[in-house]
Amino acid sequence: MLDKLYFKKQREAMVKQQLVDRHITDTRVLQAMLRVPRHLFIPSSLRPIAYTDRPLMIGNGQTISQPYVVATMSQWLALQGTESVLEIGTGSGYQTAILCELAKRVISIERFADLARKAGHALERLGYDNVEIHVGDGSQGLSDMAPFDAIMVTAAAPALPEPLRLQMNPNGGRMVIPIGTRNNQRLELVTRFGARWAIDSHLGVRFVPLVGQHGFADTLPPVET
Ligand code: SAM
Repeated sequence: MLDKLYFKKQREAMVKQQLVDRHITDTRVLQAMLRVPRHLFIPSSLRPIAYTDRPLMIGNGQTISQPYVVATMSQWLALQGTESVLEIGTGSGYQTAILCELAKRVISIERFADLARKAGHALERLGYDNVEIHVGDGSQGLSDMAPFDAIMVTAAAPALPEPLRLQMNPNGGRMVIPIGTRNNQRLELVTRFGARWAIDSHLGVRFVPLVGQHGFADTLPPVET
């Protein structure tokens, strides 16, 4: 039986070897990744490998991202604790928990009701009360609650979704999003200054597709359970 102490040690090794040694420097991000129990967001059969350097399957054909990618995307948002954040692609809820640690308020949208429900339970059990999970097509954003100081898209888009771009805070709002084909993308950091959007692109990544009106076309309908 693997206990709390075992997972704490795994987490410490993950932060040192996968994050600090690879130049993740934001201490708030490192602290958050030391605190959040990643193993509680994945199927129990995968818990022994929860802290390995790779994405893992979480059901509905979807994945929880590799810890390094979670840390990199979180670091790029440069959160200070006062922000309102929109996340597209709740998945397991692990990245959502990291955002809850780093920002004031997190709104997360997931397309599969089943994943949204499981993520909601995991977050509630851990006591996060600054999060709201919605089921729907996140490529359209959530105009009623805009603008957002930060937007994180954890699924690959063919291009920058127009509604998300317009829902960024005009005073330096930031968005991290993988953009490219279904098989290969680059992680882009978009910063909005009024009617100007600056785009930096750095890291090659491979995410599952953002499926929706401003994403890729679907091949299968979402499974509702
Ligand atoms: N960050 C998540 C985590 O920590 O587990 C992993 C997210 S997974 C790589 C991408 C998620 O985006 C999947 O759960 C997928 O169902 C979801 N997704 C894809 N298209 C979406 C859309 N249009 N709206 C909302 N969620 C979407």
